[in-house]
Amino acid sequence: MLTRNPDQPGYFLQFASDNSAGICPEALEAFNRANAGFAASYGNDESTAEVCKSLRRLFDADAEIFFVFNGTAANSTALASLCQSYQAVICSDIAHVETDECGAPEFFSNGSKLLSSPSRQGKLTSNGVLDVITRRTDVHYPRPKVVTLTQSTELGTVYQTGEISGIAKVAREHGLKVHMDGARFANAIAALNVSPAEITWKAGVDVLCFGGTKMGLPIGEAIVFFDRRLGEEFAYRCKQAGQLASKMRFLSAPWLSMIRDNVWLTHASHANAMARQLADKIARISGAELLLPTQANGVFVNLPPHARERLQAKGWAFYTFIGGGARFMCSWATKEAAIEHLAHDIEQSVSC
Ligand SMILES: *Cc1c(COP(=O)(O)O)cnc(C)c1O
Repeated sequence: MLTRNPDQPGYFLQFASDNSAGICPEALEAFNRANAGFAASYGNDESTAEVCKSLRRLFDADAEIFFVFNGTAANSTALASLCQSYQAVICSDIAHVETDECGAPEFFSNGSKLLSSPSRQGKLTSNGVLDVITRRTDVHYPRPKVVTLTQSTELGTVYQTGEISGIAKVAREHGLKVHMDGARFANAIAALNVSPAEITWKAGVDVLCFGGTKMGLPIGEAIVFFDRRLGEEFAYRCKQAGQLASKMRFLSAPWLSMIRDNVWLTHASHANAMARQLADKIARISGAELLLPTQANGVFVNLPPHARERLQAKGWAFYTFIGGGARFMCSWATKEAAIEHLAHDIEQSVSC
C-alpha cells in the first residue's frame, strides 16, 4: 500500500513544475561552502571565476558568461542585447517568452516585437521561421533580427541537433541571431546523446540562457554568449535591469557542484526517467490519453474534467494551462514511489 511521507507534507503531490522541488544536495553544499568568510562582491570573487572557467570547458568555447536571478530576466536581457527596438524576435506561439514573461522581452528591448510562428509539438520549424522572415520586408513591419527556440521545449519535447542547425541556417542566411531558452537545457542534454557544444554553438546558437533553477540550484540562470562580441556591454544591461547580484558567489558557486562529475546530467536523467515511467503507466490507463511524446521531464495528458477535479481534490498539484491538458513535471527530487502513487490515483480518477 502506498503512503504519503508524513515528514514532508505535500512531497508526493507536487507535479506542477520542476521548480517546486527544493535545492539538490550538491548545490546546497556548495551554497553553504560559499558562505564561509568574506569574498569580493559583484562577481569579482573566486567562485564566480572558477564557475565561468568550468562552463567554458563544458561548452568547449571561450564564451562570455553572466549570472542572473531568473529565466525571465535571462531571456529578456539576452534578447534585448541582440536587437534594436524596431527589430523583432521570432518565437514559437507557445514559447515562454511569448506566453509567460509578462511582456518582459518587449519591455527590456524597448519594444522589439515578438513574432510568433506555429509550433509543431512545441518546436519551431525552419519553414515556419522562413515564413515569418519573408512575410514582409517593408518599413511598416518590424524587421526580424533574432530567432529564439526553447530546449527542451515547453511541451516536453526535444530538438534534435539537425533541427536546430536547420533553423540556425535559415536565420544566418537572413542575418538573424539565434537565442536558446535553456530553462530545461539539462533535460535536453540528458535526453540526447550529444555534447553541450554540438547542440549549441556548433549548431549555430549564439546565446544560451542555461537554466539553473529547474535543475536543482537554489536560484539563478547563466547566460552564455558564445560570440563574445555580443556580450561586450552586457554587464551594463544586467546592472540596469537590477540583475547584478552583489553577493554573486551565491548565484555562481552552486553551479560548480553541478558541473563537477556531471551531477547536472545525473539529476536531469533522473527527472527524465521519472517522466518516462509516468508516461508508460498512463499509456496503459484507458480514459487517460498522452498528448505528446515524453522526451524530457514533462508528461502531458488529456484527462476528463471529473478526473482532473478528483486528482486536485486528493491534493495533486499540476498545471492545466499549458499544452491543452494536464501537465505533470518531474524533477531531480521526484521519487519512484510518487510516480506509482500518482499513476494509481490517475487510474482511479478516470474511472467512473
Ligand atoms: C521556467 C521557465 C523559464 C524561466 O522562468 P522564471 O520563472 O522567470 O525563472 C523560462 N523559459 C521556460 C521555457 C521555462 O519553463
